[in-house]
Amino acid sequence: MDCLFCKIIAGEVPSTKVYEDDMVYAFKDISPVAPVHYLIIPKEHISGASEINEANSKYVAHIFEVAARIAKSEGFENGFRIVTNCGEDAGQTVHHLHFHLLAGKKMGWSADSAV
Ligand code: 5GP
Ligand code: ZN
Repeated sequence: MDCLFCKIIAGEVPSTKVYEDDMVYAFKDISPVAPVHYLIIPKEHISGASEINEANSKYVAHIFEVAARIAKSEGFENGFRIVTNCGEDAGQTVHHLHFHLLAGKKMGWSADSAV
């Protein structure tokens, strides 16, 4: 399968690791839109949020646990945002489920802009 994020997990494409365990991998976004912009992804290929089901939702729960852990350990005391884009209208460009973890600035709120 030709999936960029599966290649990043496999180490075939380089990335800057932030966190890793047996279920998930977290790394710095190559094109950050906030002072802190990490991507947290499941190690199993899931194409996006529309493909989450009873069998794989454990990854989502775990990703949120990991996000909370990163937020505590890196001191995002003023807050943070978690975003996932699914499908064309939301602007999903990589079809491997990923959660953007954004922090380090006061963020606005609009459906047309995550930051
Ligand atoms: P999406 O637009 O699908 O929600 O998010 C995809 C994200 O992946 C974008 O924020 C983009 O900057 C990031 N991205 C795309 N290619 C690479 C890459 O090769 N390495 C890293 N670290 N991030 C990438
Ligand atoms: Zn993949």
